[in-house]
Amino acid sequence: MTEFEAVIGLEIHIQLQTKSKAFSSDSTEYGALPNTLVSPVSLGHPGTLPKHNAKAVEMATMMGLALNCDITRINQYSRKNYFYADLPKGYQITQFNTPLCTNGFVPIQTKDGVKSKIRLTRIHMEEDTGKSMHDQDLYDTLVDYNRAGTPLIEVVTEPDIKTGDEAYAFVTEIRRLVRYLEICDGNMEEGSLRCDANISVMPKGTSVYGTKVEVKNMNSISNVKRAIDFEIARQINVIESGNKVEGETRGFNGLEGTTFSMRKKEAINDYRYFPEPDLPPIIVTDAYIQNIRSKMPELPAILFDRFTNNYGLNDYDSSVLVDDKMSALYFEQITKHSNNYKAICNWVMVTIRGYLNENALSIEQFSLNPHQIAEIIALIDSGVINHTIANQKLFPALIANPSKHPKELVEELNLATNSDLSFLNEIIDEVLSAFPEKVLEYKSGKQGLLGMFVGEVMKRSKGKADPKITNQLIAEKLAQ
Ligand code: ADP
Ligand code: MG
Repeated sequence: MTEFEAVIGLEIHIQLQTKSKAFSSDSTEYGALPNTLVSPVSLGHPGTLPKHNAKAVEMATMMGLALNCDITRINQYSRKNYFYADLPKGYQITQFNTPLCTNGFVPIQTKDGVKSKIRLTRIHMEEDTGKSMHDQDLYDTLVDYNRAGTPLIEVVTEPDIKTGDEAYAFVTEIRRLVRYLEICDGNMEEGSLRCDANISVMPKGTSVYGTKVEVKNMNSISNVKRAIDFEIARQINVIESGNKVEGETRGFNGLEGTTFSMRKKEAINDYRYFPEPDLPPIIVTDAYIQNIRSKMPELPAILFDRFTNNYGLNDYDSSVLVDDKMSALYFEQITKHSNNYKAICNWVMVTIRGYLNENALSIEQFSLNPHQIAEIIALIDSGVINHTIANQKLFPALIANPSKHPKELVEELNLATNSDLSFLNEIIDEVLSAFPEKVLEYKSGKQGLLGMFVGEVMKRSKGKADPKITNQLIAEKLAQ
């Protein structure tokens, strides 16, 4: 039986987080009352004039530089003419033959460690349409024009993606970068980042691409992967049952994990592109690019290198930390007060992240400063408190009293580890006499029981016994 391989290209629309729209001063606020953020410019009334939003161009340039692109020097906007209810102008202002960015690429790695380099066809700037709402009224479709004119960039890839996993890794990387650059919140549920997937299949080892299908409406990265996996299987099935894949646009049903036909692609649309006469070209100079470059934050790849090389973290820890910019920055602030990088990493990834998740907080809302976390680590490292007490008692106490020093709280709450021998011996004797059979089992060779004895001592000391010394003392006693 013929084996097939898939060919996938993605088109990702990214809403830029500017305060005002691409060509007017209307606000881009999300969630405002419908049709309250619409001036005659957004609606394209005759006689109105669009104006460039410098911030949008800056953000688009940043993204181009982050994705290794060449930046186009003379940029002309075009009009893409078509009629749609959510496009009141009858045309969309977009870049047609002079996309701002070309020749870029994105290195990716799937969860199984498969590495590849996805080439980009282009990134261009354009404006968003309004929004048709089909579920607000029983009989009619309603239209909200607030979104009309919001600045977008569209990232288009070459058909270099081969699997749903690679697409997942690619969109994840794009989302991470827009968040690092702070040009978009990357929220797919709210539609500020939208991904369309073009998918075709061909017999393995051949080079003529099959007919592609475009799938839309995936509202999460995992749904992008699910839609692609489903579509590949569906197309293979169509071919194996002797039929031809039809060129069409399909939607994705997230509940069933299936795609369904929306419209056939019979003819190539003629959008009658022509240069937008109301906007002068945007001229990009070397000095401009230099300036944008100097304003860009450090990107995750750079942080990853530093975390592995300078701090000696392993690849896994580094990549988990770097996934979220704010966690990575917080980690780095703690390193200014402590050299125990592995411990800092654990505190940020496990204890702090766990606390934030449980309380639905972001790290910007975290009340402890990096110095306090470094102090806790120092208290553990010097044997003043043990790790369990630090996590379960000191950390919550500090959160309840964020203005205190960890050291003060250790004293106030009497949390210091007890390595006083008579204190420990007393509890150990108590434990050993409470479990006479276990003691016999241990002596007849079941050495694994040592941990259970230590655990029992920890419990009875309310976590304050020094685990190392306790371990040693019990082993000595039982050896007698
Ligand atoms: P269209 O003219 O339909 O917009 P494009 O050639 O502009 O198509 O490509 C749109 C997207 O589809 C790009 O991401 C491209 O990489 C991808 N693509 C093109 N041909 C194929 C194919 N045969 N299979 C899968 N993806 C494809
Ligand atoms: Mg195209």
